Amino acid sequence: MDINELVSLPAQTSIVPNALLRDYTTFQLGGACPALIDCPDADALASAAQCLVAEGVEFMVIGQGSNLLVSDKGLDLVVLRYCTEDPAAEFDGLRVRVSGSTLFDDLARLAIEQGVGDLSFCSGIPGTVGGAIAGNAGAFGRQIGDVVESVDLLAPDGSRHEVQGAELGFEYRSSVLKQTGAVVLNAVLKLETCDIETMTAERERIMELRRTKHPNWRASPCAGSVFRNVEPTSAADRRQAAGWFLEEAGAKNFHVGGARLFEKHANIIVADPEATAQDVFALTEKMIAAVRERFGFELEREIKLLGEF
Ligand SMILES: Cc1cc2nc3c(=O)[nH]c(=O)nc-3n(C[C@H](O)[C@H](O)[C@H](O)COP(=O)(O)OP(=O)(O)OC[C@H]3O[C@@H](n4cnc5c(N)ncnc54)[C@H](O)[C@@H]3O)c2cc1C
Repeated sequence: MDINELVSLPAQTSIVPNALLRDYTTFQLGGACPALIDCPDADALASAAQCLVAEGVEFMVIGQGSNLLVSDKGLDLVVLRYCTEDPAAEFDGLRVRVSGSTLFDDLARLAIEQGVGDLSFCSGIPGTVGGAIAGNAGAFGRQIGDVVESVDLLAPDGSRHEVQGAELGFEYRSSVLKQTGAVVLNAVLKLETCDIETMTAERERIMELRRTKHPNWRASPCAGSVFRNVEPTSAADRRQAAGWFLEEAGAKNFHVGGARLFEKHANIIVADPEATAQDVFALTEKMIAAVRERFGFELEREIKLLGEF
């Protein structure tokens, strides 16, 4: 496919032909796609998607690629990237309208600076606001879905709609967007007043905790937790950490090729420089088998696999 033949792509987009997806994912793994189109704002993303729909070209949207494992063989579809380091957030009293492309951690920082929200739990979570809403990202028992008032969505057919947060079916690390494939262009979050000093201290505490307990993905490529935490067996219980089952199943020292478990967290895989996406996939299979053998149930992947494994 010659992407340059798609003359109606908006001028604001930049196109990378044969883009290597390892350059756009925090695992830093994955082969090429025919073209990656970087979309700086919601209008550019919507126009690019509408152009691809009209031409019958298959595509998908990614954010920062922090929850993805892309096959070494790459993808046979166009990738639209909606992720920016220039946050687009407008505060109005206790509400903020934020672009889906804004980095989640930037949103947390800005909300605290404005004295609204308690979005400190989002501190240090990689990815975009759009990716976070689609997967109901969260930490420390809190999740973004709790504060989403409404979203502007781009449906897979290229049409745009406003949808209320209550209709997004938020569940643990999930929303209906995972099934429908609709894209969050912008979101309105409804927040509460917060004390700037208290929240700043809380943000620093969380950032320090992450620095000591999680890998820094820029130096140690990863995609956060590989498996979903495990459903409780009784309604009174909380979810149980997948990492605990993995440690009990003796997975802590597992490795395949250049893929290994992070020494401080058995539910995180780190890709060393020689790792392939296939190594990571094979390691996840080995981890699933170990827990199956020891406990008799199947761990479910949290990370999204893209392409052939
Ligand atoms: C070191 C590390 C720590 C992490 N810690 C946490 C944590 O504490 N809690 C947590 O929840 N997650 C955590 N994660 C996982 C990851 O940060 C989240 O899943 C994040 O929300 C993914 O956002 P993204 O923009 O990178 O999405 P991507 O990885 O690019 O995409 C993930 C999925 O979301 C879809 N998507 C992307 N953008 C949009 C959009 N605008 N609208 C609709 N769908 C979209 C994609 O199509 C894909 O299906 C961690 C990851 C790393 C690397």
